[in-house]
Amino acid sequence: MIIMRYKAVGCLYLRRPDPPNRDKSPAGAEANMQPIPPGPVCQSCGISMSRDQNGGGTEMDGTTRSIEYCSSCYRNGMFTEPDLTVDDVISRAQARLQAAGVPEPVIERNLMGMYRLDRWKD
Ligand SMILES: [Zn+2]
Repeated sequence: MIIMRYKAVGCLYLRRPDPPNRDKSPAGAEANMQPIPPGPVCQSCGISMSRDQNGGGTEMDGTTRSIEYCSSCYRNGMFTEPDLTVDDVISRAQARLQAAGVPEPVIERNLMGMYRLDRWKD
């Protein structure tokens, strides 16, 4: 299962000491792990907020737009799928990106970025 590999890499990366001066990986490895595209992205599913046709999720009052979450993840101040896990998000994103013909290395970077979204951070 290819997703497990992403998970292992993602955890390893997240647990890197901070500041990472004991890091033995070659310089620039960090730069290759920039999975989040420019501009704000949904902090749950990682889609670009600018692509959200509804302009973002809604807060508890039902009208204030969330600046963090898209309209399919977040509605009226709640997640639309409270039981969603980061693994669900990753497998959906993987399917979506593959269907869109996105090159595999780009998909990989995107998927690893999911672990850094606010909803999935510890
Ligand atoms: Zn979302």
